[in-house]
Amino acid sequence: MTRSAPPTKEEIRQYAFERGADLCGFVSTARLNTVTPTRYKPSRLWPAAKTAISIGKRFLTGAAKVGITDSIQNGRWISWRTCDLLNTLALDIGHFLERGGQVALPLSSGNMADPDHTNRGVFAELSHRHTAAQAGLGVIGVPTFLVTPQFGPRVYLNTILTETEYEPDPRLDFDPCGTDCDACIKACPHEAIVRGRRTIKKPLCIPHAMPHGARPMRDFILGVMSKTDPKEREAALYDAQFLRLFRATVFGVGTFAGCFFCLEACPIGKDGPAMATPAAGTKQL
Ligand code: SF4
Ligand code: SF4
Repeated sequence: MTRSAPPTKEEIRQYAFERGADLCGFVSTARLNTVTPTRYKPSRLWPAAKTAISIGKRFLTGAAKVGITDSIQNGRWISWRTCDLLNTLALDIGHFLERGGQVALPLSSGNMADPDHTNRGVFAELSHRHTAAQAGLGVIGVPTFLVTPQFGPRVYLNTILTETEYEPDPRLDFDPCGTDCDACIKACPHEAIVRGRRTIKKPLCIPHAMPHGARPMRDFILGVMSKTDPKEREAALYDAQFLRLFRATVFGVGTFAGCFFCLEACPIGKDGPAMATPAAGTKQL
């Protein structure tokens, strides 16, 4: 059924919450084009877009909890499924907008390959975290992730662009990190978080955050190709890494958000049951 008028902001927000979003905010693309500190600006994707609708889905407390134990693969599975939920949600909102006579472009959460590999992994078409901060969902914290009052950094994001102009939401007056919190810095086993830096240290983080993505796949294939002994080649296909990469290809597990120490450590929004501490010697694969 086609609506006679575009839905209001509150109707869109209500629809997003009914469909499963935990957070939803609005920001003008003009502002995003000015402040987004990456080349992934909305104008690059769609110059006619006027508003970005930012949606967030909580990352389950239990997933962060098991993500720092040997059950990390389960946390990674929940990561990917949370992205899936956000992608479905963005599509639903896009259809909701277009049923109201608007034109909408839902983006993807966590599954665009960076074309020139300068970002070393898989990234979205625009910076969902900066969009969310500008739309009032949270603020960019010390680890350069979005930190929200409700869930701390344990939230995943997606964005829907639309040609319709909506009143932007106010940004948050929220300072979770202050000048001396260092919980996430201390929790990172790879020293990838540095207070005051514009990004995490990607070469130190990405191999752990995206352990079964395109680069590990390429390295695995090159490793098999470099073996001259047919028995060694065959043996490589029985290695656990082959199974992990197979699962990543089919289910997405480990291709995105595969390391959880910093998320688990943040005290903001940590109102669930007490978190487990990593067992001595626990390693991430
Ligand atoms: S995802 Fe892992 S490696 Fe990256 S900053 Fe967080 S704890 Fe460190
Ligand atoms: S652990 Fe502390 S410094 Fe890190 S994001 Fe949370 S509040 Fe900010």
